[in-house]
Amino acid sequence: MDPPADDSSQIGTVGCVAIDAAGTLATATSTGGLVNKMPGRIGDTPLVGAGTYANALCAVSATGKGESIIRHTVARDVAAFMEHRPGLTLRDAAARVVGNTPRGDVGLVAVSASGEVCMVHNTTGMFRACATEDGHTEVGIWTDAAAGGHSVSIGL
Ligand code: ASP
Repeated sequence: MDPPADDSSQIGTVGCVAIDAAGTLATATSTGGLVNKMPGRIGDTPLVGAGTYANALCAVSATGKGESIIRHTVARDVAAFMEHRPGLTLRDAAARVVGNTPRGDVGLVAVSASGEVCMVHNTTGMFRACATEDGHTEVGIWTDAAAGGHSVSIGL
């Protein structure tokens, strides 16, 4: 099958963030890159701080146009907000970072040390899901207007 001419793709990135019972945070991101990418291109996914980042405060995995994610050091910037702006929710930190990137370029999933989950995107949609130990599950594709725009956030 020929790749779509408009660079849109359904084969994109799989990102995962997790927190365990001890509060340990982890992230992982896997991708085939973008359709029609330049040979040899290295996107944001394997660049720690761009598409993938975790520390003691939060874990972040990004998807979208890697060039924008690299330029804005998306994953690390979310962690930097959490580090330098105590009191800011993960959702607010993520919304600020994603909001500073070009519309249509970036989405991310993240979880904080307190167990706050957020899934934010400025794209039309982002396939996403969340599951907790106590059985809560949630899936989404499009913008969740009830969550105040383009994000879903769950206090766990
Ligand atoms: N961020 C990936 C890249 O630019 C692509 C994706 O997320 O679908 O390589």
